[in-house]
Amino acid sequence: MKPKFIFITGGVLSSLGKGLSAASIGALLESRGLKVTFQKLDPYINVDPGTMNPFQHGEVYVTDDGAETDLDLGHYERFSSARMGKKNNYTTGQIYDAVISKERKGDYLGATVQVIPHITDEIKDKIRQVANGADVAIIEIGGTVGDIESLPFLEAIRQFKGDAGKENVLYIHLTLVPFIPTAGQLKTKPTQHSVKELLQIGIQPDILLCRTDRLLPSDIKDKIALFCNIGKDCVITAKDVASIYEVPLVFHQEGLDEKIVETLNIWTREPRLEGWHDIVHTVKNPTQEVTIAIVGKYVHLEDSYKSLNEALIHGGIANHARVHLKFIDSENFEKQDSFDMFNSVDGILVPGGFGSRGIEGKIKVIRYARENNIPFFGICLGMQLAVTECARHVCGLADAHSSEFNKDTKNPVILLLKEWYDYQKKSIQRRSEDSHLGGTMRLGAYPCELKEGTFAFEAYQQPSIFERHRHRYEFNNEYRDLLEKNGMIVSGICPDANLVEIVEIPAHPWFLGCQFHPEFKSRPMDPHPLFRAFIKASLQRKNRL
Ligand code: GLN
Repeated sequence: MKPKFIFITGGVLSSLGKGLSAASIGALLESRGLKVTFQKLDPYINVDPGTMNPFQHGEVYVTDDGAETDLDLGHYERFSSARMGKKNNYTTGQIYDAVISKERKGDYLGATVQVIPHITDEIKDKIRQVANGADVAIIEIGGTVGDIESLPFLEAIRQFKGDAGKENVLYIHLTLVPFIPTAGQLKTKPTQHSVKELLQIGIQPDILLCRTDRLLPSDIKDKIALFCNIGKDCVITAKDVASIYEVPLVFHQEGLDEKIVETLNIWTREPRLEGWHDIVHTVKNPTQEVTIAIVGKYVHLEDSYKSLNEALIHGGIANHARVHLKFIDSENFEKQDSFDMFNSVDGILVPGGFGSRGIEGKIKVIRYARENNIPFFGICLGMQLAVTECARHVCGLADAHSSEFNKDTKNPVILLLKEWYDYQKKSIQRRSEDSHLGGTMRLGAYPCELKEGTFAFEAYQQPSIFERHRHRYEFNNEYRDLLEKNGMIVSGICPDANLVEIVEIPAHPWFLGCQFHPEFKSRPMDPHPLFRAFIKASLQRKNRL
Protein backbone atom coordinates (compact mmCIF):
# COMPACT_ATOMS: atom_id res chain seq x y z
CA MET A 1 0.00 0.00 0.00
CA LYS A 2 1.22 3.49 -0.80
CA PRO A 3 1.45 5.54 2.39
CA LYS A 4 -1.47 7.73 3.38
CA PHE A 5 -0.95 11.12 4.98
CA ILE A 6 -2.85 12.75 7.81
CA PHE A 7 -2.02 16.41 8.45
CA ILE A 8 -2.93 17.87 11.81
CA THR A 9 -3.19 21.61 12.29
CA GLY A 10 -4.33 23.64 15.27
CA GLY A 11 -6.46 26.72 15.55
CA VAL A 12 -7.74 29.35 18.01
CA LEU A 13 -4.97 28.99 20.57
CA SER A 14 -2.03 26.82 21.50
CA SER A 15 -1.95 24.07 24.15
CA LEU A 16 -5.16 22.42 22.94
CA GLY A 17 -3.37 19.08 22.78
CA LYS A 18 -2.41 18.70 19.14
CA GLY A 19 0.47 16.39 19.97
CA LEU A 20 -1.71 14.17 22.13
CA SER A 21 -4.39 14.13 19.45
CA ALA A 22 -1.85 13.07 16.83
CA ALA A 23 -0.48 10.40 19.17
CA SER A 24 -3.98 9.12 19.97
CA ILE A 25 -4.90 8.89 16.30
CA GLY A 26 -1.71 6.89 15.80
CA ALA A 27 -2.68 4.61 18.69
CA LEU A 28 -6.11 3.96 17.16
CA LEU A 29 -4.76 3.25 13.68
CA GLU A 30 -2.09 0.97 15.13
CA SER A 31 -4.78 -0.90 17.08
CA ARG A 32 -6.37 -1.60 13.69
CA GLY A 33 -3.16 -3.26 12.53
CA LEU A 34 -1.71 -0.37 10.53
CA LYS A 35 1.93 0.66 10.63
CA VAL A 36 2.04 4.31 11.62
CA THR A 37 4.74 6.93 11.83
CA PHE A 38 4.76 10.58 12.85
CA GLN A 39 6.47 13.84 12.08
CA LYS A 40 6.39 17.16 13.88
CA LEU A 41 7.09 20.29 11.84
CA ASP A 42 8.00 23.15 14.15
CA PRO A 43 7.72 26.75 12.91
CA TYR A 44 10.48 28.23 15.07
CA ILE A 45 13.85 29.23 13.60
CA ASN A 46 16.16 27.33 15.98
CA VAL A 47 18.30 24.84 14.10
CA ASP A 48 19.16 22.94 17.25
CA PRO A 49 16.18 22.51 19.59
CA GLY A 50 18.63 20.94 22.05
CA THR A 51 19.86 24.34 23.18
CA MET A 52 16.37 25.67 23.94
CA ASN A 53 15.36 26.61 27.45
CA PRO A 54 13.01 24.04 29.04
CA PHE A 55 11.27 26.91 30.88
CA GLN A 56 10.04 28.30 27.58
CA HIS A 57 9.55 25.25 25.52
CA GLY A 58 9.13 22.28 27.81
CA GLU A 59 11.34 19.24 27.82
CA VAL A 60 13.86 18.34 25.14
CA TYR A 61 12.96 14.78 24.12
CA VAL A 62 15.85 12.52 23.11
CA THR A 63 15.51 9.66 20.61
CA ASP A 64 17.59 6.49 20.21
CA ASP A 65 19.55 8.03 17.35
CA GLY A 66 20.44 11.01 19.54
CA ALA A 67 18.10 13.63 18.09
CA GLU A 68 17.11 16.37 20.54
CA THR A 69 13.53 17.00 19.65
CA ASP A 70 10.18 18.44 20.56
CA LEU A 71 8.34 16.84 23.47
CA ASP A 72 5.47 15.80 21.20
CA LEU A 73 7.73 13.03 19.89
CA GLY A 74 7.54 11.63 23.41
CA HIS A 75 3.76 11.39 23.11
CA TYR A 76 4.11 9.64 19.76
CA GLU A 77 6.45 7.01 21.22
CA ARG A 78 4.37 6.51 24.36
CA PHE A 79 1.16 6.00 22.39
CA SER A 80 2.46 3.77 19.62
CA SER A 81 5.25 1.36 18.82
CA ALA A 82 6.69 3.72 16.19
CA ARG A 83 10.24 4.75 17.06
CA MET A 84 11.21 8.34 16.48
CA GLY A 85 14.50 9.78 15.28
CA LYS A 86 16.09 12.72 13.49
CA LYS A 87 13.77 12.48 10.49
CA ASN A 88 10.65 12.81 12.63
CA ASN A 89 11.12 16.43 13.67
CA TYR A 90 12.10 19.45 11.58
CA THR A 91 12.14 23.12 12.43
CA THR A 92 11.89 26.04 10.01
CA GLY A 93 15.53 26.71 10.87
CA GLN A 94 16.59 23.21 9.75
CA ILE A 95 14.59 23.47 6.51
CA TYR A 96 16.17 26.84 5.63
CA ASP A 97 19.57 25.53 6.66
CA ALA A 98 19.20 22.62 4.21
CA VAL A 99 18.00 24.89 1.37
CA ILE A 100 20.74 27.45 1.97
CA SER A 101 23.47 24.78 1.96
CA LYS A 102 22.09 23.42 -1.31
CA GLU A 103 22.15 26.93 -2.75
CA ARG A 104 25.77 27.39 -1.57
CA LYS A 105 26.75 24.15 -3.26
CA GLY A 106 25.16 25.33 -6.48
CA ASP A 107 22.45 22.67 -6.49
CA TYR A 108 19.85 25.14 -7.76
CA LEU A 109 22.03 26.06 -10.77
CA GLY A 110 21.73 29.78 -10.15
CA ALA A 111 17.93 29.87 -9.99
CA THR A 112 16.31 32.46 -7.73
CA VAL A 113 15.75 30.57 -4.49
CA GLN A 114 12.28 31.21 -3.11
CA VAL A 115 9.86 30.05 -0.42
CA ILE A 116 7.73 28.53 -3.18
CA PRO A 117 8.96 26.18 -4.61
CA HIS A 118 12.33 25.68 -2.88
CA ILE A 119 11.35 25.79 0.77
CA THR A 120 8.04 24.03 0.17
CA ASP A 121 9.75 21.33 -1.93
CA GLU A 122 12.26 20.73 0.85
CA ILE A 123 9.38 20.36 3.34
CA LYS A 124 7.52 17.96 1.05
CA ASP A 125 10.68 15.87 0.62
CA LYS A 126 11.00 15.52 4.38
CA ILE A 127 7.35 14.46 4.64
CA ARG A 128 7.76 11.84 1.90
CA GLN A 129 10.95 10.51 3.46
CA VAL A 130 9.40 9.93 6.85
CA ALA A 131 6.42 8.09 5.35
CA ASN A 132 8.66 5.53 3.66
CA GLY A 133 7.65 2.05 4.82
CA ALA A 134 4.63 3.18 6.84
CA ASP A 135 0.94 2.70 6.05
CA VAL A 136 0.00 6.04 7.52
CA ALA A 137 2.17 9.08 8.29
CA ILE A 138 0.69 11.51 10.78
CA ILE A 139 2.21 14.95 10.28
CA GLU A 140 1.66 17.57 12.97
CA ILE A 141 2.19 21.23 12.13
CA GLY A 142 3.34 23.14 15.20
CA GLY A 143 1.92 26.54 16.12
CA THR A 144 -1.54 27.92 15.43
CA VAL A 145 -3.08 28.62 12.04
CA GLY A 146 -2.77 32.34 11.42
CA ASP A 147 0.83 32.59 12.69
CA ILE A 148 3.21 34.06 10.14
CA GLU A 149 5.82 31.42 10.96
CA SER A 150 3.81 28.38 9.99
CA LEU A 151 2.79 29.60 6.52
CA PRO A 152 5.46 27.73 4.50
CA PHE A 153 4.51 24.46 6.22
CA LEU A 154 0.81 25.02 5.57
CA GLU A 155 1.50 25.90 1.94
CA ALA A 156 3.55 22.70 1.59
CA ILE A 157 0.79 20.50 3.00
CA ARG A 158 -1.78 22.28 0.80
CA GLN A 159 0.29 21.36 -2.26
CA PHE A 160 0.74 17.82 -0.95
CA LYS A 161 -2.82 16.82 -1.77
CA GLY A 162 -2.22 17.60 -5.43
CA ASP A 163 1.01 15.60 -5.43
CA ALA A 164 -0.14 12.53 -3.52
CA GLY A 165 -3.75 12.37 -4.70
CA LYS A 166 -6.83 13.34 -2.75
CA GLU A 167 -7.59 9.76 -1.68
CA ASN A 168 -4.26 9.66 0.13
CA VAL A 169 -4.44 12.87 2.14
CA LEU A 170 -6.58 13.90 5.09
CA TYR A 171 -6.59 17.23 6.92
CA ILE A 172 -7.60 17.27 10.57
CA HIS A 173 -7.98 20.58 12.37
CA LEU A 174 -8.06 20.92 16.15
CA THR A 175 -10.05 23.85 17.53
CA LEU A 176 -11.68 25.02 20.72
CA VAL A 177 -15.42 25.15 21.45
CA PRO A 178 -15.57 27.00 24.75
CA PHE A 179 -18.49 26.98 27.17
CA ILE A 180 -19.24 30.56 28.21
CA PRO A 181 -20.86 30.41 31.67
CA THR A 182 -22.44 33.89 31.52
CA ALA A 183 -24.25 32.94 28.30
CA GLY A 184 -24.77 29.35 29.40
CA GLN A 185 -23.74 28.27 25.91
CA LEU A 186 -21.07 26.54 23.89
CA LYS A 187 -19.62 28.93 21.32
CA THR A 188 -18.71 27.90 17.77
CA LYS A 189 -17.45 31.24 16.46
CA PRO A 190 -13.73 30.66 17.24
CA THR A 191 -13.95 27.39 15.28
CA GLN A 192 -15.64 29.10 12.34
CA HIS A 193 -12.95 31.78 12.26
CA SER A 194 -10.16 29.29 12.52
CA VAL A 195 -11.52 27.20 9.63
CA LYS A 196 -11.92 30.40 7.55
CA GLU A 197 -8.27 31.13 8.20
CA LEU A 198 -7.37 27.67 6.86
CA LEU A 199 -9.65 28.07 3.84
CA GLN A 200 -7.90 31.32 3.02
CA ILE A 201 -4.70 29.42 2.47
CA GLY A 202 -6.46 26.79 0.45
CA ILE A 203 -6.95 23.99 2.98
CA GLN A 204 -10.43 22.58 3.55
CA PRO A 205 -10.29 20.45 6.70
CA ASP A 206 -11.90 17.00 6.41
CA ILE A 207 -12.34 16.43 10.13
CA LEU A 208 -12.61 18.87 13.03
CA LEU A 209 -11.53 17.88 16.50
CA CYS A 210 -13.34 20.20 18.86
CA ARG A 211 -11.78 20.56 22.28
CA THR A 212 -14.51 21.14 24.85
CA ASP A 213 -15.30 20.41 28.47
CA ARG A 214 -18.54 18.54 27.57
CA LEU A 215 -19.94 16.42 24.77
CA LEU A 216 -21.08 18.56 21.85
CA PRO A 217 -24.86 18.38 21.46
CA SER A 218 -26.32 17.57 18.08
CA ASP A 219 -27.37 21.16 17.22
CA ILE A 220 -23.86 22.47 17.88
CA LYS A 221 -22.40 19.78 15.60
CA ASP A 222 -24.97 20.78 12.94
CA LYS A 223 -23.94 24.39 13.17
CA ILE A 224 -20.20 23.66 12.95
CA ALA A 225 -20.77 21.28 10.03
CA LEU A 226 -22.81 23.91 8.17
CA PHE A 227 -20.38 26.76 8.63
CA CYS A 228 -17.26 24.72 8.01
CA ASN A 229 -18.42 22.68 4.97
CA ILE A 230 -18.00 19.26 6.52
CA GLY A 231 -20.27 16.34 7.35
CA LYS A 232 -21.77 16.28 10.84
CA ASP A 233 -20.05 12.95 11.52
CA CYS A 234 -16.74 14.68 10.87
CA VAL A 235 -17.25 17.00 13.83
CA ILE A 236 -15.57 15.10 16.65
CA THR A 237 -15.84 16.01 20.31
CA ALA A 238 -12.42 16.11 21.92
CA LYS A 239 -13.67 16.23 25.48
CA ASP A 240 -11.38 17.01 28.42
CA VAL A 241 -10.43 13.82 30.23
CA ALA A 242 -8.87 13.01 33.59
CA SER A 243 -6.07 10.89 32.14
CA ILE A 244 -4.36 11.45 28.78
CA TYR A 245 -4.55 7.69 28.19
CA GLU A 246 -8.32 8.03 27.80
CA VAL A 247 -7.99 10.17 24.67
CA PRO A 248 -7.78 7.26 22.18
CA LEU A 249 -10.90 5.72 23.75
CA VAL A 250 -12.84 8.99 23.66
CA PHE A 251 -11.89 9.52 20.01
CA HIS A 252 -12.94 5.98 19.20
CA GLN A 253 -16.35 6.48 20.86
CA GLU A 254 -16.83 9.51 18.65
CA GLY A 255 -16.14 7.37 15.58
CA LEU A 256 -12.89 9.11 14.64
CA ASP A 257 -10.83 6.09 13.57
CA GLU A 258 -13.74 4.71 11.54
CA LYS A 259 -14.10 8.05 9.75
CA ILE A 260 -10.36 8.24 9.03
CA VAL A 261 -10.07 4.78 7.47
CA GLU A 262 -13.29 5.32 5.53
CA THR A 263 -12.17 8.66 4.08
CA LEU A 264 -8.70 7.40 3.24
CA ASN A 265 -10.20 4.23 1.83
CA ILE A 266 -8.14 1.87 3.98
CA TRP A 267 -9.48 -1.58 4.77
CA THR A 268 -8.57 -2.68 8.32
CA ARG A 269 -9.74 -4.97 11.08
CA GLU A 270 -11.74 -3.63 14.03
CA PRO A 271 -9.49 -1.86 16.54
CA ARG A 272 -8.15 -3.89 19.48
CA LEU A 273 -8.40 -1.52 22.39
CA GLU A 274 -8.18 -3.90 25.39
CA GLY A 275 -4.73 -2.60 26.31
CA TRP A 276 -5.98 0.99 26.49
CA HIS A 277 -9.06 -0.03 28.47
CA ASP A 278 -6.82 -1.85 30.96
CA ILE A 279 -4.56 1.16 31.44
CA VAL A 280 -7.45 3.54 31.96
CA HIS A 281 -9.06 1.11 34.37
CA THR A 282 -5.86 0.87 36.43
CA VAL A 283 -5.34 4.62 36.41
CA LYS A 284 -8.90 5.23 37.56
CA ASN A 285 -9.13 2.40 40.11
CA PRO A 286 -5.77 2.19 41.88
CA THR A 287 -5.49 -0.08 44.91
CA GLN A 288 -2.89 2.14 46.60
CA GLU A 289 -1.35 5.62 46.49
CA VAL A 290 2.16 6.97 46.77
CA THR A 291 3.69 10.45 46.85
CA ILE A 292 6.94 11.21 45.04
CA ALA A 293 8.87 14.45 45.47
CA ILE A 294 10.61 15.77 42.36
CA VAL A 295 13.32 18.11 43.53
CA GLY A 296 14.55 20.23 40.66
CA LYS A 297 14.92 23.60 39.07
CA TYR A 298 12.26 23.65 36.37
CA VAL A 299 9.46 22.80 38.79
CA HIS A 300 7.23 25.71 37.74
CA LEU A 301 6.53 24.44 34.26
CA GLU A 302 5.34 20.85 34.36
CA ASP A 303 6.09 20.39 30.67
CA SER A 304 9.80 20.64 31.49
CA TYR A 305 9.58 17.16 32.99
CA LYS A 306 6.91 15.74 30.70
CA SER A 307 8.43 12.28 30.12
CA LEU A 308 9.51 12.01 33.73
CA ASN A 309 5.99 12.68 35.00
CA GLU A 310 4.57 10.11 32.62
CA ALA A 311 7.22 7.52 33.51
CA LEU A 312 6.32 7.90 37.20
CA ILE A 313 2.67 7.40 36.34
CA HIS A 314 3.66 4.27 34.38
CA GLY A 315 5.61 3.03 37.40
CA GLY A 316 2.36 3.51 39.32
CA ILE A 317 0.36 1.59 36.71
CA ALA A 318 2.80 -1.33 37.06
CA ASN A 319 2.11 -1.35 40.82
CA HIS A 320 -1.63 -0.59 40.61
CA ALA A 321 -0.90 2.66 42.41
CA ARG A 322 -1.83 6.28 41.91
CA VAL A 323 1.28 8.43 41.96
CA HIS A 324 1.01 11.93 43.39
CA LEU A 325 3.80 14.22 42.27
CA LYS A 326 5.08 16.94 44.55
CA PHE A 327 7.33 19.42 42.76
CA ILE A 328 9.85 21.07 45.05
CA ASP A 329 12.23 23.84 44.09
CA SER A 330 15.70 22.80 45.25
CA GLU A 331 16.60 26.42 45.97
CA ASN A 332 14.34 26.15 49.04
CA PHE A 333 17.07 24.18 50.78
CA GLU A 334 19.85 26.62 50.12
CA LYS A 335 18.45 29.01 52.71
CA GLN A 336 17.13 26.61 55.33
CA ASP A 337 17.60 23.10 56.67
CA SER A 338 14.04 22.05 57.37
CA PHE A 339 12.92 18.94 55.54
CA ASP A 340 9.36 18.98 56.92
CA MET A 341 7.94 19.11 53.45
CA PHE A 342 9.15 15.53 52.96
CA ASN A 343 7.02 14.21 55.83
CA SER A 344 4.26 13.13 53.50
CA VAL A 345 6.63 11.90 50.80
CA ASP A 346 7.41 8.22 50.10
CA GLY A 347 10.20 8.59 47.55
CA ILE A 348 12.52 11.35 46.33
CA LEU A 349 13.64 11.90 42.75
CA VAL A 350 16.29 14.35 41.57
CA PRO A 351 15.98 14.74 37.79
CA GLY A 352 18.38 15.91 35.09
CA GLY A 353 19.37 19.52 34.70
CA PHE A 354 21.97 22.04 33.65
CA GLY A 355 23.52 25.06 35.35
CA SER A 356 24.54 25.72 38.92
CA ARG A 357 21.32 27.13 40.38
CA GLY A 358 19.87 24.99 43.16
CA ILE A 359 22.77 22.48 43.14
CA GLU A 360 23.66 22.68 46.84
CA GLY A 361 19.97 22.34 47.72
CA LYS A 362 19.77 19.12 45.72
CA ILE A 363 22.85 17.74 47.46
CA LYS A 364 21.24 18.44 50.86
CA VAL A 365 18.08 16.62 49.79
CA ILE A 366 20.08 13.62 48.56
CA ARG A 367 21.87 13.45 51.90
CA TYR A 368 18.51 13.58 53.66
CA ALA A 369 17.18 10.70 51.50
CA ARG A 370 20.32 8.63 52.07
CA GLU A 371 20.46 9.15 55.82
CA ASN A 372 16.74 8.60 56.35
CA ASN A 373 16.39 5.50 54.17
CA ILE A 374 13.94 7.20 51.82
CA PRO A 375 13.90 5.55 48.35
CA PHE A 376 15.98 7.76 46.09
CA PHE A 377 16.21 7.92 42.32
CA GLY A 378 18.77 10.24 40.73
CA ILE A 379 18.65 10.80 36.99
CA CYS A 380 21.63 12.20 35.08
CA LEU A 381 22.44 15.35 37.07
CA GLY A 382 20.65 13.64 39.99
CA MET A 383 23.09 10.71 39.73
CA GLN A 384 26.10 13.02 39.46
CA LEU A 385 25.04 14.87 42.61
CA ALA A 386 24.42 11.59 44.45
CA VAL A 387 28.05 10.68 43.72
CA THR A 388 29.17 14.13 44.89
CA GLU A 389 27.12 13.82 48.08
CA CYS A 390 28.52 10.41 48.91
CA ALA A 391 32.09 11.54 48.17
CA ARG A 392 31.68 14.55 50.46
CA HIS A 393 29.80 13.11 53.41
CA VAL A 394 30.68 9.42 53.39
CA CYS A 395 34.18 9.37 51.88
CA GLY A 396 35.22 12.59 53.61
CA LEU A 397 36.22 14.56 50.50
CA ALA A 398 34.71 17.85 51.66
CA ASP A 399 35.39 19.72 48.42
CA ALA A 400 34.26 16.96 46.06
CA HIS A 401 32.24 18.34 43.16
CA SER A 402 31.47 18.06 39.51
CA SER A 403 33.87 20.15 37.48
CA GLU A 404 30.77 21.59 35.81
CA PHE A 405 30.14 23.57 38.99
CA ASN A 406 33.60 23.93 40.50
CA LYS A 407 36.41 23.95 37.96
CA ASP A 408 39.10 24.18 40.65
CA THR A 409 38.03 21.39 42.98
CA LYS A 410 40.81 19.01 44.03
CA ASN A 411 38.30 16.16 43.89
CA PRO A 412 36.40 16.28 40.60
CA VAL A 413 34.28 13.17 41.13
CA ILE A 414 32.34 14.12 38.01
CA LEU A 415 34.29 15.59 35.13
CA LEU A 416 34.21 16.55 31.49
CA LEU A 417 35.75 13.91 29.25
CA LYS A 418 37.75 15.63 26.55
CA GLU A 419 37.54 12.55 24.36
CA TRP A 420 34.88 9.92 24.20
CA TYR A 421 33.65 7.23 21.87
CA ASP A 422 30.37 8.26 20.28
CA TYR A 423 28.18 5.23 19.54
CA GLN A 424 25.91 7.23 17.26
CA LYS A 425 28.67 8.69 15.13
CA LYS A 426 30.85 5.57 15.55
CA SER A 427 33.94 7.68 16.16
CA ILE A 428 35.98 9.40 18.85
CA GLN A 429 34.61 12.89 19.60
CA ARG A 430 36.50 15.74 21.22
CA ARG A 431 35.48 18.80 23.21
CA SER A 432 36.89 21.25 25.73
CA GLU A 433 35.48 23.31 28.58
CA ASP A 434 34.62 26.11 26.18
CA SER A 435 33.35 24.14 23.18
CA HIS A 436 30.02 25.21 21.69
CA LEU A 437 26.98 24.10 23.67
CA GLY A 438 25.38 22.55 20.60
CA GLY A 439 26.76 19.24 19.39
CA THR A 440 29.08 18.38 22.26
CA MET A 441 26.92 16.08 24.33
CA ARG A 442 26.81 12.32 24.69
CA LEU A 443 23.46 11.78 23.02
CA GLY A 444 21.12 8.93 22.23
CA ALA A 445 21.22 5.21 22.97
CA TYR A 446 24.34 3.60 24.49
CA PRO A 447 24.69 0.03 25.72
CA CYS A 448 25.05 -0.69 29.43
CA GLU A 449 26.02 -3.94 31.16
CA LEU A 450 24.50 -4.65 34.52
CA LYS A 451 26.05 -6.34 37.53
CA GLU A 452 24.08 -9.23 38.95
CA GLY A 453 22.59 -9.00 42.43
CA THR A 454 22.03 -5.24 42.29
CA PHE A 455 18.89 -3.06 42.36
CA ALA A 456 19.47 -2.40 38.67
CA PHE A 457 19.71 -6.07 37.71
CA GLU A 458 16.72 -6.94 39.85
CA ALA A 459 14.69 -4.26 38.03
CA TYR A 460 15.73 -5.07 34.47
CA GLN A 461 16.11 -8.85 34.87
CA GLN A 462 18.68 -8.94 32.08
CA PRO A 463 22.43 -8.36 31.77
CA SER A 464 22.54 -5.74 29.03
CA ILE A 465 20.33 -2.81 28.16
CA PHE A 466 20.28 0.29 25.95
CA GLU A 467 19.36 3.65 27.38
CA ARG A 468 19.30 7.23 26.09
CA HIS A 469 21.75 9.91 27.09
CA ARG A 470 21.97 13.68 27.04
CA HIS A 471 24.88 15.09 29.04
CA ARG A 472 28.52 16.19 28.89
CA TYR A 473 29.95 15.25 32.27
CA GLU A 474 30.82 11.74 33.47
CA PHE A 475 31.67 9.77 36.57
CA ASN A 476 35.42 10.00 37.28
CA ASN A 477 36.76 6.42 37.42
CA GLU A 478 39.64 7.53 39.68
CA TYR A 479 37.16 7.64 42.54
CA ARG A 480 35.48 4.34 41.85
CA ASP A 481 37.43 2.26 44.38
CA LEU A 482 37.05 4.78 47.14
CA LEU A 483 33.30 5.07 46.63
CA GLU A 484 32.87 1.30 46.39
CA LYS A 485 34.81 0.84 49.64
CA ASN A 486 32.46 3.32 51.26
CA GLY A 487 29.24 1.65 50.21
CA MET A 488 28.36 3.20 46.86
CA ILE A 489 28.77 0.56 44.17
CA VAL A 490 28.80 0.72 40.40
CA SER A 491 26.09 -1.54 38.97
CA GLY A 492 26.03 -0.48 35.31
CA ILE A 493 28.93 0.14 32.94
CA CYS A 494 29.04 1.23 29.32
CA PRO A 495 31.26 -1.49 27.78
CA ASP A 496 34.37 -0.53 25.74
CA ALA A 497 34.23 3.07 26.87
CA ASN A 498 34.28 1.98 30.54
CA LEU A 499 31.90 4.74 31.57
CA VAL A 500 29.92 4.41 34.77
CA GLU A 501 26.21 4.38 34.00
CA ILE A 502 24.56 3.34 37.28
CA VAL A 503 25.54 3.71 40.94
CA GLU A 504 23.67 2.47 43.97
CA ILE A 505 23.91 2.00 47.74
CA PRO A 506 23.14 -1.66 48.56
CA ALA A 507 22.74 -0.97 52.29
CA HIS A 508 19.89 1.46 51.59
CA PRO A 509 16.31 0.25 50.89
CA TRP A 510 16.54 1.64 47.33
CA PHE A 511 19.09 4.27 46.32
CA LEU A 512 20.02 4.40 42.65
CA GLY A 513 21.42 6.98 40.28
CA CYS A 514 21.74 6.55 36.53
CA GLN A 515 23.68 8.64 34.07
CA PHE A 516 21.09 8.07 31.33
CA HIS A 517 17.47 9.20 31.05
CA PRO A 518 15.24 6.13 31.53
CA GLU A 519 12.08 8.28 31.36
CA PHE A 520 12.35 8.53 27.57
CA LYS A 521 11.77 4.82 27.12
CA SER A 522 8.86 4.29 29.48
CA ARG A 523 5.45 3.59 28.02
CA PRO A 524 2.05 3.04 29.63
CA MET A 525 1.85 -0.43 28.06
CA ASP A 526 5.43 -1.19 29.06
CA PRO A 527 6.42 0.73 32.20
CA HIS A 528 10.16 1.26 32.59
CA PRO A 529 11.84 -1.24 34.97
CA LEU A 530 13.59 1.42 37.06
CA PHE A 531 10.40 3.45 37.56
CA ARG A 532 8.51 0.27 38.38
CA ALA A 533 11.14 -0.64 40.99
CA PHE A 534 11.38 2.89 42.43
CA ILE A 535 7.60 3.14 42.90
CA LYS A 536 7.57 -0.35 44.41
CA ALA A 537 10.25 0.61 46.93
CA SER A 538 8.39 3.83 47.76
CA LEU A 539 5.19 1.88 48.35
CA GLN A 540 7.07 -0.55 50.59
CA ARG A 541 8.37 2.30 52.69
CA LYS A 542 4.91 3.81 52.95
CA ASN A 543 3.41 0.49 54.03
CA ARG A 544 6.18 -0.06 56.59
CA LEU A 545 5.74 3.29 58.32
N1 GLN B 1 24.65 19.00 33.45
C1 GLN B 1 25.00 17.62 33.48
C2 GLN B 1 25.89 17.22 32.31
O1 GLN B 1 25.96 17.92 31.32
C3 GLN B 1 23.75 16.74 33.54
C4 GLN B 1 22.90 16.82 32.33
C5 GLN B 1 21.54 16.20 32.51
O2 GLN B 1 21.08 16.02 33.64
N2 GLN B 1 20.86 15.90 31.43
O3 GLN B 1 26.53 16.20 32.35
